[in-house]
Amino acid sequence: MSFSSPPGPSSSSSHPLVPYGWDAGWEAEFAPYTEQGLLPGRVVRVDRGQCDVVTSAGAVRADTEFVVPRDPMKVVCTGDWVAVDPESGDPRYARTILPRRTAFVRSTSSKRSDGQVLATNIDHVVICVTLAAELDLGRIERFLALAMSCSSGEALLHKSVLSWESGAQPVVVLTKADLVPDAVTLAHLVQDVETSAPGVPVLPVSAAFGDGLDVLAALVSGGTSVLLGQSGAGKSTLANALLGEDVMEVQATRDVDGKGRHTTTTRNLLALPGGGVLIDTPGLRGVGLWDAGTGVGQVFAEIEELAAECRFHDCAHAAEPGCAVLAAVDSGELPERRLDSYRKLLRENQRIVAKTDAKVRADIRREWKRKGAEGRAAMEAKRGRWT
Ligand code: GDP
Ligand code: ZN
Repeated sequence: MSFSSPPGPSSSSSHPLVPYGWDAGWEAEFAPYTEQGLLPGRVVRVDRGQCDVVTSAGAVRADTEFVVPRDPMKVVCTGDWVAVDPESGDPRYARTILPRRTAFVRSTSSKRSDGQVLATNIDHVVICVTLAAELDLGRIERFLALAMSCSSGEALLHKSVLSWESGAQPVVVLTKADLVPDAVTLAHLVQDVETSAPGVPVLPVSAAFGDGLDVLAALVSGGTSVLLGQSGAGKSTLANALLGEDVMEVQATRDVDGKGRHTTTTRNLLALPGGGVLIDTPGLRGVGLWDAGTGVGQVFAEIEELAAECRFHDCAHAAEPGCAVLAAVDSGELPERRLDSYRKLLRENQRIVAKTDAKVRADIRREWKRKGAEGRAAMEAKRGRWT
């Protein structure tokens, strides 16, 4: 089946970075750096203190140390728009990260509880769910919560409440649709998922036969997308189908360290032939279901709405009198399974938040101590050390 090639915003401009997502907004953000003679570019890969950047002057390898390295949220990441030194710079640095529109942040891992930015400036989170196995609606809800946590980069930095509009838009892709025996069954499966994901497009596709690929290609043509899903869900197959057979993910680039060595680097950010950009990093692939962060409330918006009607505003919806959530379960309006899923995710999330909060509090205390010590030292230097 063929891809549709929607015109999109890209054909209206001839800037060489448009296929990578450059638009009037980025151009405006970048204006002060143009004046400084810096080049705009998008980071396609980051490794060991360096990044590969696509610029209008071709691929550039730049050092990332220039950008505040201490704050994990400000480390250069695949998907970032950066200002890099012109060709004359030696070494060339990525000097600044343009403010991120969205950031996909892993909220925790077993070892550390500080945020780790996995990808930035994402418009679509494509959640891949295989139809080769029985649908696990709870798992889809978890991935949706994870997608919801990909929110406004600034909001994340300030740990404020996230809004659906400010973040990336999720879409659920039901892969391997060819394995479903008939159209009626497929329609039912789609409907089941739609019930678990109110307001989220649900799209059955078959990469093997091409069904639904044109719809997906059109959907992702208007921005930057990431693919999420369990191993074996069909993400690589889908990525290859979107990229077209002749687009290789592994590209050879010349090392710019002067040794003239050829190194094979994997680009983690690729322009799609039908428009749009795909980010696929090892970090994103390994992202755990429990990294859902603050997306839970948005996935279960109908429960949170009901909860607003509960008599007690801190109602746990367990056995409290006047609980609107339990009433909705009793009346059949709210499936009990939804409520169970919601509770489970909330519990998991609370554990993560507790861990993160402890880390944040410790960081703040350390910072205050450091500032206090600096302040005292400065005072003493002023006075002369006669006290
Ligand atoms: P990933 O781990 O999510 O990247 O999944 P892969 O893309 O590696 O796919 C896992 C398996 O599913 C592979 O054996 C694929 O050949 C198979 N697969 C992927 N897409 C389809 C499809 O549309 N139909 C069928 N029948 N199999 C598929
Ligand atoms: Zn309640």
